[in-house]
Amino acid sequence: MAGIYIHIPFCRQACNYCNFHFVTSLRLKDELIAALIQEINITLLFDGNETIETIYFGGGTPSLLLKDDVNRILEALHKKFDIAGTAEVALEANPDDVNPGKLSEWLAAGINRLSVGIQSFDEAELVWMNRAHTAAESLQCIDEIKNAGFSNFSIDLIYGSPLLTNDNWKRNVDIVFEKNVPHISCYALTVEPKTALSKLITQHKKANTDPDKQSEQFLLLMQWMRNAGYDHYEISNYALPGMRSKHNSSYWSGEKYYGFGPSAHSFDGTCRRWNVANNSVYIQSLQKGGIPFEEEKLTSTQRLNEYIMTSLRTVEGLSIDKVVAGFGKQFGEKIMLLGKKYAGSNKLIVQNAHLILTDEGKLFADGIAADLFFE
Ligand code: SF4
Repeated sequence: MAGIYIHIPFCRQACNYCNFHFVTSLRLKDELIAALIQEINITLLFDGNETIETIYFGGGTPSLLLKDDVNRILEALHKKFDIAGTAEVALEANPDDVNPGKLSEWLAAGINRLSVGIQSFDEAELVWMNRAHTAAESLQCIDEIKNAGFSNFSIDLIYGSPLLTNDNWKRNVDIVFEKNVPHISCYALTVEPKTALSKLITQHKKANTDPDKQSEQFLLLMQWMRNAGYDHYEISNYALPGMRSKHNSSYWSGEKYYGFGPSAHSFDGTCRRWNVANNSVYIQSLQKGGIPFEEEKLTSTQRLNEYIMTSLRTVEGLSIDKVVAGFGKQFGEKIMLLGKKYAGSNKLIVQNAHLILTDEGKLFADGIAADLFFE
């Protein structure tokens, strides 16, 4: 099983917390799509025997693409790769791009899952984040998506902004339940260095986030989602039965993936590659017939640490048997020993040779993983 990620580095406006690779001018869009198709045509990374089970258009804002852009990219992928008939083909969309016309174009192109960047249903919060859509559009797009016939879709929500009270957080999540949204991804607002938000906080023009409030809102969320019957299958992701994201699940289980477009990452099982995060350099290199990337070959220790990090974030947890089979008995024994220490402090449970984080432990997931890492 393998997946494909397509990075579309254009956005309507810059959300103040965002540190992804994007630009707000569409000036180079046509050249970039041509370069991206060229990258698909000339890549040698996969050996040609892989069946592609998932395709994901991320960004940036792929919902800014025209029908022809999406069709041409998919056509190039189908020519180059063996794509399963049952493949999950997902596209990230922002509420201001969703309308009945676009939805039927996406369905006709073969998109069968949408991931919608809603972030909040509260107008003041959306303005605070400098999102390009309104709260009314956040609400309306869910009905339009369902009416168009998309049964498989997800929405992103952000918690922990200084404006978000626990009551408003409950209201946001209640809308998910009222509208029977099949999947949600929820992230704590993170103040990344060099973002507009970081600058505004330094200049005292915006309030900073409060880690205690973020922890409280995460604990509340886990409880609400569980009570509503959602499967909390990864630390930031919740799905109704059968509605997990195949694409993200394959990342977390270490499957191969190829990323096309500026800043896109690829992984072939041992080697990680990342394309240049600069649209002009990306276009010029592809026009000259080269793919501008850097790469590193992961050592066995790096692969083990990655497995520790990603598996601890999943509901299935870290499998000691997998560690023993993939890396050796001594690593499994050491992890089990450390795991028992955390089990004593109620941060994880040890069950059927798996280490599984408790709700409390999920607040410390990164720190616990780092403690289990090998050098
Ligand atoms: S729409 Fe998404 S990618 Fe674009 S600036 Fe906002 S958060 Fe970043």
